[in-house]
Amino acid sequence: MRFLFLTLCLLMASATSSAQPADPVILVIHGGAGTISRATVAPETEVSIRAALEEALRAGHAAIQDGNPALDGVVAAIQVMEDSPHFNAGIGGVFAADGTVRHDASIMDGASGMAGASTGTLHVRHPIQLARAVMENSVHVMLAEEGAEEFAIQQGLEIVPNSLFHTDRRRRALESAQERERELQGSAGYIPEQWQMTGTVGAVALDNAGHLAAGTSTGGMTNKRWGRIGDSPIIGAGTFANDATCGVSSTGHGEFFIRLAVAHDIHARAMYGGETCTQAAEAVIHETLTEAGGTGGVIMLDHDGNVAMPFNTEGMYRGFITQSGQVVVKLYAEE
Ligand code: ASP
Repeated sequence: MRFLFLTLCLLMASATSSAQPADPVILVIHGGAGTISRATVAPETEVSIRAALEEALRAGHAAIQDGNPALDGVVAAIQVMEDSPHFNAGIGGVFAADGTVRHDASIMDGASGMAGASTGTLHVRHPIQLARAVMENSVHVMLAEEGAEEFAIQQGLEIVPNSLFHTDRRRRALESAQERERELQGSAGYIPEQWQMTGTVGAVALDNAGHLAAGTSTGGMTNKRWGRIGDSPIIGAGTFANDATCGVSSTGHGEFFIRLAVAHDIHARAMYGGETCTQAAEAVIHETLTEAGGTGGVIMLDHDGNVAMPFNTEGMYRGFITQSGQVVVKLYAEE
């Protein structure tokens, strides 16, 4: 009898947690996690970042109207952020140690399980478009550097000089990272600081047919060397989507996200462990990542339109839009 009662309670709880909200979220985005606080963001910059996030949400929302696939929403939202100098993606991407901006991006389709990614590109205007082209028009999942660019040219994607991506703010960040590195020479080693990897962008969308897609795009880490690749183009670390559970896009200290397979871990806990995707996302960021000493956050959207945006840094640029077009944008932890 007691067993029956417990089983009923569990069934009711799982029914409630997977219930479809009245006005489900259909797109969630992030513009990076890190040292983002009222003390570090100037008021006029804050207004402009909020406007850029809202523009990305509205572009993604418009792209998945009329029965278009979730992938269209992800690409449209990310493209807007790649074009904004506020984020570490496309224009405004952070500088590598050699003074170039090198992009990484990935995308995954929750319906088919197909994925595409590119890393270390210098001239592709919208790296998220390249990731999608790799997924849809090649037999591979990940292409790197010159080969990825050759493929982008064949695909007819927009190719631009690397200088288009350069901004003074990111150049100053490179100079100060290199100065700090010189100061620390001879010590145990230089550990990148949180501000060196702020501003990666990502999106997760849910379309009318109930399919999910997720994508991520970044310049990576300021002062990166030796062909360093972060989590953003790694399927299972920076990006993951599966219609049975949820879509996830990560931002933060990429080395930790790779080692912990953060995006896939959230999916797996929900798929095999019986947690809701929201519980899984919260646990992976606030327990697994935090206990490992990593910093960052994720956005998660599940197949019912439930959203989670956990992070363990001071702030994370983030927002979502519902089916009816209601927009929510947040920057700081206390919001
Ligand atoms: N995760 C990215 C990387 O490590 C950086 C970021 O999220 O801002 O390359």
